[in-house]
Amino acid sequence: MIIDVHSHLDLLTEEKVKEIGENKKIKLVITNSVDLKTSKKSLKLNKMFSKIKVAVGLYPGKELKLSDFNIFENFVRKNKESITAIGEIGLDLHHTKENFEIQKAVFIKELELAKQLEIPVIIHSRKAEKEVLEILESFPKVKVLLHCFSGNFKLITKGIERGYYFSIPTNVNRSEHFQKMLELIPREKILTETDSPYLSPHKDKENEPIFIEESIKKISEIWKNPEDKVEKQIEDNFNKLFSVFNN
Ligand SMILES: [Zn+2]
Repeated sequence: MIIDVHSHLDLLTEEKVKEIGENKKIKLVITNSVDLKTSKKSLKLNKMFSKIKVAVGLYPGKELKLSDFNIFENFVRKNKESITAIGEIGLDLHHTKENFEIQKAVFIKELELAKQLEIPVIIHSRKAEKEVLEILESFPKVKVLLHCFSGNFKLITKGIERGYYFSIPTNVNRSEHFQKMLELIPREKILTETDSPYLSPHKDKENEPIFIEESIKKISEIWKNPEDKVEKQIEDNFNKLFSVFNN
């Protein structure tokens, strides 16, 4: 069965979400939010289907303001029973460089919150992988999942040494980088993701969790392990990182 640890289900149509909810091949999906509005929407999706788990976060985009954090923090504390992780959070130097200091300040506050609540974080680090790892160094107790990590060998090794988890996106079939990561990173630290509706492996279609079936095939090939064993390994890894079966 399929597990998608990083998607944005709030951006898919209602019909598509229903299809995902009812598809028996899909075991669990973590829908990640980017602001307060999408965090609220994610909680609604969790009420519709218990297999949809929720990560809430303030994404490091252009609009991010330091003052966003307080309302967000109150929201998280109030709804903490329904929240599986803090995400998507992190730093981004690809889309914007101007508010990097604000990004860092909010990221640190979100990590402090995750530490207090003892829940994992799901991290975006586009073109800021080094800076993300520098900040994470001060939070050794926080369980970290690096989503779609594109850092170099040295940074991947650093993540491995610190025991971080890595989620492999659906473009693994084409991307040498992610294929290499699958050889390098211990199998107990690998998870699967789509970033739906983004990063689709098919030009004419939006991404969706079921496309992870294609990733499983590739991982099975690289690990030289049957597909059902790969799915089981990923399920075990998921259970180790997130203890979510109580809601
Ligand atoms: Zn994302």
